Amino acid sequence: DARLSEVDPEVAAAVAAELDRQQSTLEMIASENFAPAGVLEAQGSVLTNKYAEGYPGRRYYGGCEHVDVVEQLAIDRAKALFGAEHANVQPHSGAQANAAAMFAVLKPGDTILGLDLAHGGHLTHGMKINFSGKLYTVVAYHVDKETGIVDLAEIERLAVEHRPKLIVAGWSAYPRQLDFAEFRRIADLVDAKLMVDMAHFAGLVAAGLHPSPVPHADIVTTTTHKTLGGPRGGLILCREALAKKINSAVFPGQQGGPLEHVIAAKAVALKIAASDEFRERQERTLAGSRLLADRLSRPDCAAAGVRVLTGGTDVHLVLVDLVQSALDGQQAEDRLHSVGITVNRNAVPFDPRPPMVTSGLRIGTPALATRGFGTEDFAEVADVIAEALKADFDESVRQTLRGRVELLAKKHPLYADLPR
Ligand code: PLP
Repeated sequence: DARLSEVDPEVAAAVAAELDRQQSTLEMIASENFAPAGVLEAQGSVLTNKYAEGYPGRRYYGGCEHVDVVEQLAIDRAKALFGAEHANVQPHSGAQANAAAMFAVLKPGDTILGLDLAHGGHLTHGMKINFSGKLYTVVAYHVDKETGIVDLAEIERLAVEHRPKLIVAGWSAYPRQLDFAEFRRIADLVDAKLMVDMAHFAGLVAAGLHPSPVPHADIVTTTTHKTLGGPRGGLILCREALAKKINSAVFPGQQGGPLEHVIAAKAVALKIAASDEFRERQERTLAGSRLLADRLSRPDCAAAGVRVLTGGTDVHLVLVDLVQSALDGQQAEDRLHSVGITVNRNAVPFDPRPPMVTSGLRIGTPALATRGFGTEDFAEVADVIAEALKADFDESVRQTLRGRVELLAKKHPLYADLPR
């Protein structure tokens, strides 16, 4: 059997170049991480060949005895890790997990209440041209203009006024913890179901470093590739009472054959997520984001018009507000890219600039923590970012900062033993 480099040198070259990019730059996109070699191995396995429509023990295809073992391991580990009554590990992605969760408890036209995309919500929480915005009637809640904190009083007011069938708590860009008990109280007040999308902070929940939504929510959805550090994919947790509805909403409701190779990789990631090493990594993730928020709050950054939204962070990311800076989000993203740090521009709440440009950055620490960064390294990278966002940036500053980034990348080798 020919290796990739023989059968398709063009794809092989692009894969090798991507490995080199990941190794030689610093990944600070908050939704990204580095899957460990065992996860990559499971995902690249012969399980990709297998059709297994249905669920373990109840398949529509023969020969499922081994993928049944794998999928049951993933289910049992997900339930144990998060203390959930039921787990469905089949969603191909976070978006499909959310689609299935909504499909299970809503009819087209029903009302959902979710965080506005422009204030940190996800596309699947009700954006106009997403399935969620097209299928359901969307009411959006917001963050408070002064504090940047989710406005629970507004949520209660909107819930009472619009009586949604489902309230969605969760975010893609928000630096604080949500009060799940309060969301539950509001949902009960109007007889709505509560869904928590913990895609971003699932790793912190697994490590016990963030309150768990599981005791409060009817349904919890997540991706498995962000802080959780597994393969790209989705996962749904729920109470036993909703188990049948959730399973049938995923298959046959939304999907056909499950990706058993990805489910095997999810099982591996969920095993790792129960380890002490994983918890220690999440602690470094949080320490890193706090260091970054502190560094970007210093007077030299304030003088450059750089602000930290909500004044800090409780999670794995920092939101940087550039409304007062000479740089817009696109320019700041490009500048950090030019010194070897990858981040994404992100709209800030009440952003005066268009979504393709924005006035903010979202900077996350999970991938660097996985790479082994400790507090000293995070302090150094925070300093590099602070220097890069200042007004006196020029080619010589760029070269100095790029050199500092290269030293950090060399200090923490990535995928050193991966077969090439
Ligand atoms: N939910 C939240 C909160 C997210 O941030 C994301 C991805 O960014 C998703 C769902 C969707 O996940 P995926 O990209 O796997 O569809």
